[in-house]
Amino acid sequence: MLQRTHSPEETKALARQWIAAHPTIKLWFLKGDLGAGKTCFVKGIATFFGSPENQVKSPTFSFIEVHDNWVHVDLYRLQEEDVFLNQELEEHLQAGRTLFIEWPQRLLSWQNRPHAEIQFTHQGETERELKLTLLS
Ligand code: ADP
Ligand code: MG
Repeated sequence: MLQRTHSPEETKALARQWIAAHPTIKLWFLKGDLGAGKTCFVKGIATFFGSPENQVKSPTFSFIEVHDNWVHVDLYRLQEEDVFLNQELEEHLQAGRTLFIEWPQRLLSWQNRPHAEIQFTHQGETERELKLTLLS
């Protein structure tokens, strides 16, 4: 599925729409350059799950931000795959939480799991292309 958005608000609205349309998907990979809108998308997700949007930050010291029933992960600064991090993510999935992972390319051993992938691409100052692919 391919969509263009023209503002951060539109990206957040699209996030809510796509999450609502795929309630059984618990693993979401968010790919794209810095500034492409991945964290903005997660802010839209926060509203969907009833969490305050201002709690969504780009984690600098921790890779994982746990909310009630969903988890925001940003692996931009992860140097190499880490068994403890893998284990922690695994536990969140077991607990029924939905995971949204920025820079999922860093998790080599997770690439073959069923997930939804969204590729974010800059199209201009305030225009972004979002491509949703379901991989099983
Ligand atoms: P990433 O997490 O991919 O590095 P962010 O979501 O942190 O990117 O940053 C996206 C930036 O682009 C924000 O400053 C946001 O306000 C801006 N922006 C402008 N237009 C859009 C759009 N259509 N969708 C998402 N973000 C946008
Ligand atoms: Mg980000």
